[in-house]
Amino acid sequence: MSTQVQEELNAAQACIYTRTNIARAYQGFDDTEVAGIYLRGDHCVVVHRDGVEQTFERSLIKAAHQSYTHRLKDFFSYLGPHYRGPSVWHNNAYIMFKGWHYTHSLGHLTSNAKLQQHWADKFIHLSDSAKVTTLLQSNQTDLGHLVAPDGMRLSNRPIDMDAELVENESSIQAPEPWCSCGSFQRQLNNVDLFRQEIEGFKPWCIHLTWFHKYRELLCKRTEARNASTSGTPDKCVAWWYAPPADHTNDGRFVLLYTKSGAQAPLTHWRTYKPKEIFTQHQAWDLFFSMMEAGYVPFPGVALPQLQSAIKK
Ligand SMILES: [Zn+2]
Repeated sequence: MSTQVQEELNAAQACIYTRTNIARAYQGFDDTEVAGIYLRGDHCVVVHRDGVEQTFERSLIKAAHQSYTHRLKDFFSYLGPHYRGPSVWHNNAYIMFKGWHYTHSLGHLTSNAKLQQHWADKFIHLSDSAKVTTLLQSNQTDLGHLVAPDGMRLSNRPIDMDAELVENESSIQAPEPWCSCGSFQRQLNNVDLFRQEIEGFKPWCIHLTWFHKYRELLCKRTEARNASTSGTPDKCVAWWYAPPADHTNDGRFVLLYTKSGAQAPLTHWRTYKPKEIFTQHQAWDLFFSMMEAGYVPFPGVALPQLQSAIKK
């Protein structure tokens, strides 16, 4: 028998030592009959309904939690209507939609997708972050999140334009990334407890990871575009995406490429690796490897001369 004290989980530990995180760290873990989860020294103890105890390494479960909250979701996970990426809101924050249009071939008909279409250009007219957050994520809506990868700027600070311009250090705080999603807010609200558990802990979520990757894509695209001497690149890749028809299948991701510029007629384009079938899970890697080779990506729907090549 261990003499170490069995501890109840605090709010941060309850987010880390979950059944799902244990299953992520330990393949084959059976989470169906769990009666309780406790901590004992360096171990996490799971008590099953039949009284059987299992012990697991805390460090491995913490690592599983961290890699899960930092994971990169596929390219289409956070695009709004018409492949719209995060759009600028106020205070250095962005509106980031969930990819309702791309989860299913009929996804664009869902009520969330329709609300996104209705609201997409209207959020900018609201300046209250609590109101925007409620509109984005409430019991009735699940449109997306308010995300500030470079930190939220304080709003409503009175400005005296006639005053001396002083930037004292106390008024400049190092901006921390921020997201309105539940996972990020739970970490933020219990950040001291999380720091006791995980060294160097900073709140993070899948939306921030995706945003960083998307921004990197936009930068690489601009670089590839500027690399052409004429300003209009010759090497171009056009892409299309057909969302999955049902939940057991993946979507289809198709690319055509040319060396004759985006406006080149269809005869100047070829299918990229026609014998292979690509899905949404390969989109990031394909974009980055094509840009590495100097190709500038365009959504195929923006190039009317190519429409006949893509069958529904
Ligand atoms: Zn988030």
